[in-house]
Amino acid sequence: MSGLMVGKNIVIMGVANERSIAWGIAKSLHEAGANLIFTYRKERSLQKLTDLLQKEGVQALDCVPCDVAEDASIEAAFARIQEKAGVIHGLVHSIAFADKEGLQGEFMNTSRASYHQAQDSSAYSLVAVAKEAKKLMTEGGSIVTQSYLGAERVVKNYNMMGVAKAALEASVRYLAEDLGKYNIRVNAVSAGAIRTLSAKGVSGFNDIMGTIEEKAPLRRNVDQSEVGDATLFLLSHLSRGITGEVLHVDAGYHILG
Ligand code: NDP
Repeated sequence: MSGLMVGKNIVIMGVANERSIAWGIAKSLHEAGANLIFTYRKERSLQKLTDLLQKEGVQALDCVPCDVAEDASIEAAFARIQEKAGVIHGLVHSIAFADKEGLQGEFMNTSRASYHQAQDSSAYSLVAVAKEAKKLMTEGGSIVTQSYLGAERVVKNYNMMGVAKAALEASVRYLAEDLGKYNIRVNAVSAGAIRTLSAKGVSGFNDIMGTIEEKAPLRRNVDQSEVGDATLFLLSHLSRGITGEVLHVDAGYHILG
């Protein structure tokens, strides 16, 4: 795989710490020779990211603040990325947010405010960043987001986040149609359950992991490196004929009834 992404500038959004799916993706991309630009929201995430980059010997092109809930923040981030990189060839959207109270009990009780926040941060954010990324993808490009099975099926406690992921996957298809004429592809990875900071907010997460280990065709859970390699594939020319797709990286769990 080494050399696959040499000369490609890829923006990675969503590293909070070493467990983040986005960090698994960053490692796969780095091994493939890509130039990496990171965006972060919290200062704590920047600190973790800086430490990780140093530890792994990864030289990032830049680390840029970006709150995807704010249009002005997104515009400022991509203006800075343009200054630094000029052209970009790929974008990784690995971002979601929901308040913890909404991720338990009955979906019916979701408040309007929680619902909006989950949709805005987790689904609309892809639309908003795709619009800015397009301006810098003058040589074509590939955008990959991270989804979950709760988009397709009722997963206990996933509630409004499942509805947000359904909107995210539909957005992938509409964006793929809009951006295809510019040779920009848009796809999602639907990852299996992985222990991360965000996953801590989902009630009963350990039970989900236990069930997957017992029942998934591969009889195990997946890890960040497997999602990283699949995302690398979707970002690379190896997947040049694929757009509007949701690729499951979940040890096959989604095929079960
Ligand atoms: P992490 O907590 O490691 O990553 C979530 C990231 O989202 C953080 O970097 C956080 O940044 C960022 N974020 C949230 N809100 C905003 C915002 N308004 N602006 C900018 N960044 C924001 O968890 P994961 O790696 O698990 O999550 C990454 C993606 O993978 C999510 O979309 C998640 O739904 C998806 N996924 C996760 C699965 C799992 O089991 N873990 C399974 C399938 C999909 P900060 O901390 O700086 O606010």
